[in-house]
Amino acid sequence: MSLEEYWKKRKFSTTPEPKGGTNETGGERFVIQKHQATHLHYDFRLEMNGVLKSWAVPKEPPTIPNVRRLAIEVEDHPVEYITFEGRIPEGEYGAGTVEIWDKGVYNLKKREDRVLEFDLEGSILKGGYKLVKFRQNQWLFFKSKN
Ligand code: MN
Repeated sequence: MSLEEYWKKRKFSTTPEPKGGTNETGGERFVIQKHQATHLHYDFRLEMNGVLKSWAVPKEPPTIPNVRRLAIEVEDHPVEYITFEGRIPEGEYGAGTVEIWDKGVYNLKKREDRVLEFDLEGSILKGGYKLVKFRQNQWLFFKSKN
């Protein structure tokens, strides 16, 4: 696990985003941040092994079973990012506004190279969800059961 890519992309003297560091909290929280950047998308993040595993979801995450959403795997983010909301200035990576769309805890059911299965307990997303990798950094994200 490394935050090198996350750090390399950002200028912490300018962006209000946290610099953070890896820490093994063993927590199982998740967050979905609505990110109004060049293109509106939803950043889905799972706290795992001391970082936030992250995917950018171009469309609103589904609340009903079997509606599939593309989820693009992006660089790990520091756990401190889980509470981040604010405005990333023009010229910075990801310039635009970030607001928390949903948050809560998850319960991991299965973890394989290409499949993650978990239950989400959020305010908007609840129930069984899956992430299935089908190409390099591309996954499908969908609700599998209520
Ligand atoms: Mn984003």
